[in-house]
Formats: sequence, C-alpha cells, structure tokens
Amino acid sequence: MLKYVYDFFEGDRSRADLLGGKGANLAEMTRLGLPVPPGFTISTAACRAYLAQGAPPAGLFDEVNAHLREVEARLGRWLGDRHDPLLLAVRSGGRFSMPGMMETILDIGLNDATVGGLAAHSGDERFAWDSYRRLIQMFGRTVHGVPAEEFERELAAVRAAAGPGGPGAAALRDLVETYKKVYAHHVGHDFPQSPHEQLYLAIRSVFESWNADRAVLYRRREHIPDDLGTAVNVMAMVFGNLGPDSGTGVAFTRDPATGAPGVYGDYLPDAQGEDVVAGIRNTVGLPELERIDPVSFRRLTEIMRTLERHYRDLCDVEFTIERGKLWMLQTRVGKRTPAAAFVIAAQLVDEGLISADEALHRVSGGQLAQLMFPGFDLDAAPVPLATGVGASPGAAVGRVVFDSAAAAAATEPVILVRRETNPDDLPGMIAAQGVLTSRGGKTSHAAVVARGMGRTCVCGAEAVRIDPERGEFTVGDRVVRAGDVISIDGSTGRVYAGSVPVRPSPVARYLAGELSPEADPLVAAVHRLLGHADAVRRLGVRANADTPADARRARAFGAGGIGLCRTEHMFLGERRELVERLILADGPAERDAALAALLPLQRADFVGILAAMDGLPVTIRLIDPPLHEFLPPLHELTARVARAEALGEDPGRDGALLVAVRRMHEANPMLGLRGVRLGLVVPGLFAMQVRAVAEAAAQRRRDGGDPRPEIMVPLVGDVRELTAVRVEAEQVLAGVEGAPEIPIGTMIEVPRAALTAGEIAAEARFFSFGTNDLTQTAWAFSRDDVEGAFFGAYLERGIFPVSPFESIDTAGVGRLVRLAVAEGRAARPELTVGVCGEHGGDPDSVEFFAEVGLDYVSCSPYRIPIARLAAGRAAV
Ligand code: ADP
Ligand code: MG
Ligand code: MG
Repeated sequence: MLKYVYDFFEGDRSRADLLGGKGANLAEMTRLGLPVPPGFTISTAACRAYLAQGAPPAGLFDEVNAHLREVEARLGRWLGDRHDPLLLAVRSGGRFSMPGMMETILDIGLNDATVGGLAAHSGDERFAWDSYRRLIQMFGRTVHGVPAEEFERELAAVRAAAGPGGPGAAALRDLVETYKKVYAHHVGHDFPQSPHEQLYLAIRSVFESWNADRAVLYRRREHIPDDLGTAVNVMAMVFGNLGPDSGTGVAFTRDPATGAPGVYGDYLPDAQGEDVVAGIRNTVGLPELERIDPVSFRRLTEIMRTLERHYRDLCDVEFTIERGKLWMLQTRVGKRTPAAAFVIAAQLVDEGLISADEALHRVSGGQLAQLMFPGFDLDAAPVPLATGVGASPGAAVGRVVFDSAAAAAATEPVILVRRETNPDDLPGMIAAQGVLTSRGGKTSHAAVVARGMGRTCVCGAEAVRIDPERGEFTVGDRVVRAGDVISIDGSTGRVYAGSVPVRPSPVARYLAGELSPEADPLVAAVHRLLGHADAVRRLGVRANADTPADARRARAFGAGGIGLCRTEHMFLGERRELVERLILADGPAERDAALAALLPLQRADFVGILAAMDGLPVTIRLIDPPLHEFLPPLHELTARVARAEALGEDPGRDGALLVAVRRMHEANPMLGLRGVRLGLVVPGLFAMQVRAVAEAAAQRRRDGGDPRPEIMVPLVGDVRELTAVRVEAEQVLAGVEGAPEIPIGTMIEVPRAALTAGEIAAEARFFSFGTNDLTQTAWAFSRDDVEGAFFGAYLERGIFPVSPFESIDTAGVGRLVRLAVAEGRAARPELTVGVCGEHGGDPDSVEFFAEVGLDYVSCSPYRIPIARLAAGRAAV
C-alpha cells in the first residue's frame, strides 16, 4: 500500500521533496532530539493525488488516524477528550518556502465540550475561550473563505467594550457565540463540532490552498513549478498565550541584515504565532527575553548553536514558550541580504564549518552586483515623490532633462526623464546619471539598456505625468521643472525631489583599489571569496573596453586582458568628416587620402589602449556597424538640402551626402552591409585599421612595452570571407616593421558560422562568440525592436523564463556555441575560444560557458568581479 503519512521520527531534511521544507526540517529537529511537539507530515504526493482526483486518495484518513493515535498515546491526551483535550496545528509547507501564501489552522479540536476541558486543565478560562474564537475565525476563513473582517469587526467591538485588561472570560464566551453565528450565516451550516471532521476539513483546505490565486501568482514570479503540491504538517499545539511566563518569537542564528555574529530576533510575551505577524502589540528583542526567562533564553541559544553547526549555515527558527518550557516550531536555512551572505560565508569558513569552495556557493554574482552599487543614505532621504519599478540598481542624483540631446549636451549630472525610451535616446542615456520613465516594466527598452550599461533606472513610475513641451512633470499637484534636481533609487524604485546624499559602496571602492581589504568585515569577506574564486577558476575573465580609461578600470577590477575592443568610436566626433570624405570619394586617390588621414588618429588610440593593457591580450574588432551610421540622418539632410534650395543657395556637400545616404539606406541595417561585408566592399578600410594596430604595437615595443593585440573580424558567415580578410591583413602586417606576431581570429555571431565552425577554424586563430548578435540571428528578432514590443508578454506567459539577452538561451543559442566549440577545436586543437556578448557578465551564462569549456568570458568592466566570482563557483 502507498504510504502518505510520516511521523516526525521517520523523516529527515533530505526529504523535502516529499515532506516539504517545513516537514523535513521538523523531522530533522526531532531526530536531533530538540523539543518539537509531536506530530506527523502528510506528503506532497498525497496533495498531488488529492488535486488530481478532487478527493483524498483512498486510505489517507485511515493512515492519518493511525498516526494521530500514536501522537495521542505518546502525550497521553486525546483529540476530542472533554477533560484534557489534545489540540492540533495543521500547517502547510511545500518544497520551496512560499511565505504567507498558504494556510495554517491552529487550535483544531476545540468545540463546545472540549473548551471546558481546556479551561479546567490550563486553569485559564479566558485563554480557552480566546483559543476557541481563534479556531472559528481561522477555520472559517481558510476552509470556507469567510472574510476576516467579519470576525475582526466583532472582536474589535468586544475589545472596545472591555477595560484595560482586555475582555474577560464571559465576554470571550459571548464572542464565541457571535462568531458561530457569523460562521453559520456565511457558510450555511454550523461550525463543525467533531474534532476529527475539523481535522479532515483542515487538511483538505491546505491541499486546496496550493491552487489559490495568490499562490499560483507567487510561484509564477519565483519560477516554482506548479505541480509539486504542498505537504501538510499535523502537530500538537503548544501555547504561548498562557500568561507572562509564555510567549512566542522568531530568531536568527546571526544578524540576517549584516551577518554580524550573535543571535538576533523578536519575542512577544503572552501571545500566539499569528499575533506577531498581525503586529497588534510590539515585539521585544531577544535580550529582553534573556531578562524575562533566562533559562529558556539559554536553551534557545544552545539550540540555535546546534542547528547552525548541523545545517552549517545561518538558520531562522520559530519558537514558543509555554509556561517556561521552550518548544521549537520551525527552522530553515534563513534568507539574508547580499552583505550578510558574504560576511556569513567567510565567518563559517573561519569557524571551520564549511570549506572555501563551499563558501563560493553561499554567495552569487547577483549578490555581488547588488553590493557594488552606491546607495542613498536612507536616514537623510525625504518622503518619496513617487515609486516606480527598480529596474537597474544604483543611486543617481541630477537635474531633470526631458530629451536626449539636452542630456548629451549637459555639463552637470542629469537624470533623463521620458515617458519611455527608444534607441534614439541612447546618447542621452549614456550621458545621464540615471533614467526615469513613466511607462514600462523591467523588460522595457529603458530598463534593459540601462542594466546593460550599468545606468541607474527607475521605470514605470505611473504617477509621474510628463509634459516635455512645457518642460515639466507633475506628481499629483507637485510640479518638477527641467533643471530641478531629483534623486532616483534603482533598487527600490523610489523617486525623490531634491538631492539625497549618496554613499559610494565600500565594495566597489575596494574593487577599484581605493580601500584596503581590511576596511570592514564585508569588504574583507568579498576579498577572501573573490581571492578564492580566482585561485580555483579555469575560465579567464577579460573586459569589453574601448578606451584607455576603461582599460585601466577593467584592469583594476581584475581583467586578464580585453576580449572586445570596439573600434566604432574611432570613426566618430571630428573624424566624421573623414568618414564622409571616404564615402563620397571620387576614385581611389580621394579614398586613400581619407583613409590615410584616419590612420594616425586610430594608431594613437591603439597606443593608449595597448599601454593600459600592457602584457595582456587585447582583442581588437575591426569596424562592425553599417557605414551610414556615421553619416547625418536622412531626415536631417533632406531638411538641410531643402532649406538651402528654398533660399536659392547651393547645398554644397550636403547634396552629395544626401545622394549617398539615400543610396546606402537599408530597410534592415542589422542584416545589411556591416562587419566583414563592409570590409570586403570598401577597399582599404580594414587594411587601414590593421595597419594602425600593427604600427601602434610596433611603437609600444620601441617604447619598451609588451603589446599583445589580436585582430578580430566581425559577422563572418563563410570561411571565404575570413580568408579574404586574412590574406589582405597578413600582407599589411608583414609590411610593418617591429610589430609583434598578431593573431587573426573571428567572431562567431551568425548561425552559419557556428554550423561551419570546423571550416572557419582552419583560418582562425581564435573564436569569440558574439552572443548578442547570435541571439538575434538565431531567434530572428532584433533586440531594439522586440524588447519593448513583446518581451514583457513572453516573460509573463512563461515562454521566456528570463530574457535571452540577459541569460543565454542554452537550449538553442547555447547549442550553437557548443557545436562550434567542438568542431572548431576538432579542426584546430589550440584554438582559443571566448565570448564577448553581454552574457559574459551574467552569472548563469558564465556557468554555462565554463561547462562548455570556453577559455574566457569578456564583459563590461564593472561586471568583471561578478564574472570572476561566477567562474570560481563554476569550478568547484
Ligand atoms: P507560515 O509558514 O506562514 O510561517 P506556520 O505553519 O509556520 O505558517 O504557522 C504560523 C504560526 O503558527 C507559527 O509561526 C507559530 O507561531 C504558530 N504555530 C504553528 N504550529 C504551532 C503549534 N504546534 N503550536 C503553537 N503554535 C503554532
Ligand atoms: Mg512559519
Ligand atoms: Mg555583433
């Protein structure tokens, strides 16, 4: 016969799948000999069976009765006994904690007869009637959905009528009569007097609470599967509401906010569990419990030490003291802030409870990211003006601007405020300290782009009404004008008027080399754990960096080189004019002149970057975007030419540019003339860049440096494209005296390249996966167009568990990576393989890249510590 019910003696913590987290840990505490009221757990399998057939599986309640009889025998008290009744708690608890989502019913077993027994045996009539009214209320609400207010209203009336000591026994007895009427009125029949029937109904309703709307919603948000079901724990009641020598509380074995050692918790004398949550009375700290009941306090701290040594981690507990006797009602490995996670992991290593390898698994890259952001000094913050979605963490203060051009032109820190953003806002987002939008959620354009570049962002602050024409926004009747200072908190989503003081994160300061590792316990913990990650990781970590300043920052953060140095910016600014000359060139002579003018400028750029990364590899990507991105926009040119013509003037060069821009217009630039294609159709363009790299390296060598450039060709789909570029590049390299050996490799960022990686590897010294483009081309969607359009819906409906631009889609895009690594290495065993998409800084993706066997990941400088940690975790 199937077994559905397990006594606390039978289980242990390894069986959380079957017993739920709460049940498994109650069993574990029982096994440890800790004072847990006796009881048993009905398995999640029973719940699944119940939900599947809409009725309890055959034999379930017989099994429950058998276990109940054992509990009764052990305690010498019986459910329904009118002299000294056993009362029961019926508590939900699934595999994963879903705080407050499901049901618990206390005081099962009270009825018109047993309430007298409870009163007599406890010697406290008031307590007995109060417990009875609690049962009717909890049972009515949970089993039949009677609104809590219906009961609360009556309770409030009785409390108001009572003196300062609270309602007496007679008043509570009357209240029970009133409650029964409320119950019967709503439910259509009387409150069940049979304790066993109460028990069965309570069990069924806990099963059913698995599918309550809020539980379903919670699971979707937390990615908890819907088909697990909950376990039900049935256990003897103990009472914290039996007078001043009783009480109830919650405690942590260390401070869950800071990780500071020493127990930490709240206690409420003369109360039952739900009172703590209800916040009717103020709790006191544990030191107060030490004063009230030193014996129980010592026992509690002893037990918490036992639990911590046993679980080898921070635990939290729920406990109740009944007339001086301590009972443990729950424990689990406790939730904690990111700071506490690092501090506690390091402490546990010091205490010999866990190894350094294990410590890496007690923290995450995401937590480290949180710790690197500056924060507002909350003591100095005013009441928020509005609250939106905290979309990209950080604390930003600046003057309000309403358009991207104003942000880009600003000389002081600014906050870009928009209804929503689009790709045209990019320059403004780069220039601003932070971005505030009134529309969109965590997957809106603003949110995604801001996270990608580490800009603070609050989005979807719906109370903010933006009027760009008038240059102001309003929240209710408050008006904020362009130029006014606001502060936005990208973690909490809060928006403040005025300037809130910002505290830089000590962790970021330490990582940038500005603070010593001994600065404080948190910094010391980060230092230790990152040091260990570096010692064990097999994956290299490089930076995506385009300027000497970025390269220096990346190096301070621990980068082992540059995995992606974009060269696009080397064609911008004042050099635009040279690009225009290149495009308008009439014949090879003019074109070569334009290229020759660009050469020394780019050479100087490379010298700076190679100097900053001296001795480390610098992978330089030849120009990637379509050339027309470097020309004025079509509408602007059209207007300029039209104006000149209207005035009867000669549009001059604008006329020719307009023709060129029209000619080069692309319906789909992402899939158009860019990357290697551009290099093959614009003669001399790649050669100029290759020469600039080689000459820069030669100069660095003359200056005593150790330059290690590598040249990377973007957007290759066929080996013949790469061959053509390589042959030309090698000719150029051979002609530059004093240059080091410069390897030539390719990006793998279109599916065809991944599928023909074996052929391509024959011509490439290295691969670097451009997983942004590979994601776009594998899925056939353009990031700029889809993130705002339907990603929200896809995430909500669970089609994407997470955006494929945030964490690599291992089943599809990841499969292309896997295949290309295998075939590339088969063709060329010494092939170096890395990744330089944004996924290189995402902890989950880093884990995947380590598993696939890449040599390195490359990510933006401020993600480097996160990637180092994730790479360390992946190695142990
Ligand atoms: P949740 O999972 O929402 O925390 P619990 O099942 O832990 O729900 O129950 C909520 C509260 O009910 C507990 O914190 C505790 O105070 C009280 N409680 C649970 N079991 C018992 C019991 N056997 N005796 C007395 N109080 C209990
Ligand atoms: Mg609990
Ligand atoms: Mg690309």
